[in-house]
Amino acid sequence: MLAKTDVQDNQLVIGGIPATKLADQFATPLQVYDVAKIRAQIHAFQRVFTENGIEYAVSYASKAFACIAMYQLLAQEHVHIDVVSAGELFTAQQAGFPMGHVSFHGNNKSIAELEMAVRLHVGVIILDNFTEIKQLATILEQEAATCDVMIRVSPAVSAHTHEFIQTGQQDSKFGFDMLTGQADQVLQQVLAQPRMKVVGVHSHIGSQIFDTTGFQIETKKLVDLMKHWQTKFDYVPAIINVGGGFGIKYTDDDQPLAPEKFVGQIITTLQSEVAKEKLPLPAVWIEPGRSIAGPAGTSLYRVGTSKTIPEVRKYVAVDGGMGDNIRPALYGAKYDAVVADEVRPTGKTELVTLAGKYCESGDVLIKNIELPVLHTGQVVAVLATGAYGYSMASNYNRNPRPAVIFVENGQAEVVVKRETTADLVRLDQPFTLGEANK
Ligand SMILES: *Cc1c(COP(=O)(O)O)cnc(C)c1O
Repeated sequence: MLAKTDVQDNQLVIGGIPATKLADQFATPLQVYDVAKIRAQIHAFQRVFTENGIEYAVSYASKAFACIAMYQLLAQEHVHIDVVSAGELFTAQQAGFPMGHVSFHGNNKSIAELEMAVRLHVGVIILDNFTEIKQLATILEQEAATCDVMIRVSPAVSAHTHEFIQTGQQDSKFGFDMLTGQADQVLQQVLAQPRMKVVGVHSHIGSQIFDTTGFQIETKKLVDLMKHWQTKFDYVPAIINVGGGFGIKYTDDDQPLAPEKFVGQIITTLQSEVAKEKLPLPAVWIEPGRSIAGPAGTSLYRVGTSKTIPEVRKYVAVDGGMGDNIRPALYGAKYDAVVADEVRPTGKTELVTLAGKYCESGDVLIKNIELPVLHTGQVVAVLATGAYGYSMASNYNRNPRPAVIFVENGQAEVVVKRETTADLVRLDQPFTLGEANK
């Protein structure tokens, strides 16, 4: 989780600035991104494709973390994005993100969202069900427009991961089922649509995956489908999109593979399978979310109260929690943390449970972690929190969401402002019926 350069004089340093200094300057809780880490991860993915001479797109899954600055950074790095809502699409538009590099996903896109995607000329709409094919056809007719589409199939591959965050199995709300012939039916329907051009086939097998087996099986299944479609419909997709799900290191228990291992194995499998089937080599698209945003993010908190229950445990409470990172409470996600000004313990340590400030017993960020003895006001950094943390943040207990900052080359800037208590009542309206009915 921590590289050598992240620690200087036993201080946690992010993008060249000590974490304690960031906490002083921007207050806590604070979500910090090390921009160089985001860039490096993107480059690692891109390099595997270019070195193998494969046409590709790295399409970042916005849901992991999105804001205007993030989209601008991704555009600088020529990364595509996946969006799943009018909100993400609007944010991308506000960022000046090239719409041709946007893929629009979702199992229940609204008519308004489909219209917006068509009017903004997004690069690809990823078809997920029969209902939206009809809806999209109507919209394209109204707008006298055309669009590129991909067909999302569920390949019945279950990669080993937590059940709650698994999406590739047959019993899935996403995509067309491959086992019952739905994938054929949808292809026929879409090929008959004069305003839609099928550019590829998509699947996504899960998240926080640690080995390549699932991706190999998935790739083989997609090539089998290519062959089947060629034989049956004389159609060969130009792109196969294998989705995201590349695992990252949250704690020492996680042993993730490097991007080059994951993607390298996908490429090798693809090359041998298409050669076997005498098919043209398609372009490969991947959709990493967690692996790009996750390792680059750090959550900074200040220690508030603590309490010891003799013979049971010691709780140390920080000024954030499930409102800015719900993953531990939602699916038992594990994290590691360090004390910002004493990364490697130099004195006495103790086993504590790092609790949040929210009114839920389950609002625990880390259960049982050995840390230096903590005092009120000290800065604790929870590591690798860049994905599905801020993006799932809430105003639970009417707490404002933290600020987000980007740090690079010793400079820091706010990219999402901290919410204020005034922001919390911004949408509230007074109760007037009570007056009228009194
Ligand atoms: C969530 C998701 C991703 C990204 O998954 P990560 O585990 O964050 O890499 C990619 N594609 C689709 C379709 C998804 O739903």
